[in-house]
Amino acid sequence: MSFEVITEDGDARIGVLTTAHGTIETPFFMPVATKGSTKHLSSIELEGLGTHAIISNAFILSLKPGVELIKKFRGIHSFMNFNKVIFTDSGGFQMYSKSFLVRTDPDGIVFKDPFTGKTFLCTPEYNMDLHHAIGSDVAMVLDDMPLYGSSKERIKESVAKTIAWAKRCKERHDTFNSEQLLFGIIQGGVFRDLREFCAKAIVKLDFDGFAFGGLAIGEPQEDTFSALQASLRFVPRDKPRYFMGVGTPHEIVESIGLGIDCFDSRYPTMTARNGTVFTRRGNINIVNAVFRTDKKPIDEVCACSTCKSYTRAYLHHMVRMHESAAPRILSIHNIHFLHTIISEAKEAIRQQRFEEFKNNFLVMYQEEKVFKEQV
Ligand SMILES: [Zn+2]
Repeated sequence: MSFEVITEDGDARIGVLTTAHGTIETPFFMPVATKGSTKHLSSIELEGLGTHAIISNAFILSLKPGVELIKKFRGIHSFMNFNKVIFTDSGGFQMYSKSFLVRTDPDGIVFKDPFTGKTFLCTPEYNMDLHHAIGSDVAMVLDDMPLYGSSKERIKESVAKTIAWAKRCKERHDTFNSEQLLFGIIQGGVFRDLREFCAKAIVKLDFDGFAFGGLAIGEPQEDTFSALQASLRFVPRDKPRYFMGVGTPHEIVESIGLGIDCFDSRYPTMTARNGTVFTRRGNINIVNAVFRTDKKPIDEVCACSTCKSYTRAYLHHMVRMHESAAPRILSIHNIHFLHTIISEAKEAIRQQRFEEFKNNFLVMYQEEKVFKEQV
């Protein structure tokens, strides 16, 4: 058994996921290291911030540096010197971007390698071979993810393809007989009936965990949670649930309340690049003139090295001057902040007061909305 729920409070829960690189307590947040490196932070810095898992991308790694090179280093953990849990996404999402996509057909995705100009067919079987060669702890199936705003007809096709490819991924992955876990992905856009249909079919395939994909990509937040809930109730409680691409503090807290165990997002490092940082009262942009003489840290209760060392005024100055250390210093805070919020959520679950924790947290964010309008 690779996953065990150890404490529950309503639908929120704490569990333990066992992988080839140790156990990890859920819920947890994974910084994104698509190319084998998180933006602005090293793998050593991530570990220092309390990061127990990251997510990379099998397809992107297969282009550069290539799986043959990673195999020479006995896998991705040793190549990037991160000895905790590594997930790998399939790259289906990236293959659909303009720079890669040639066409899709029932057998897979035809893409152009931007480095060589050659075209390749990525089948579900080929994609599983990449995850296996890279040696991640958790592989994600190859799925078909339409863009937000696609027609229901298009999303229906995508669901059919996602289910067919998930089955082929599972069959190939079973032949490896490895410790690598395989998670299925539930698609269906914001359509509750398609989410339900997809969830039932994917759950039948009996993966090690289940992910909710194709959400938090621009739809209104009520649609995000409505679609999530439509599929969540068909996923067995004794399996880990991963909400892909979710990384704002309030979405994470809401989702933990619904029983989500795992998150990833480039949001904390992407927003740090333009000066946006998390606080208990919501996000602030440190570039704003109101912070020019502010002697407070970003967040007064945060224990990260950035908040212990620097004032908002100094950080405002650094970002305004485009200092190259600024995105790193702000990313340290944002990643630390998410790990801290999740730790607090877990403490609340242990003490059976998660609902109170969630409500207090979300009220603070509402206050910040008013504050931001005043600025
Ligand atoms: Zn901080």
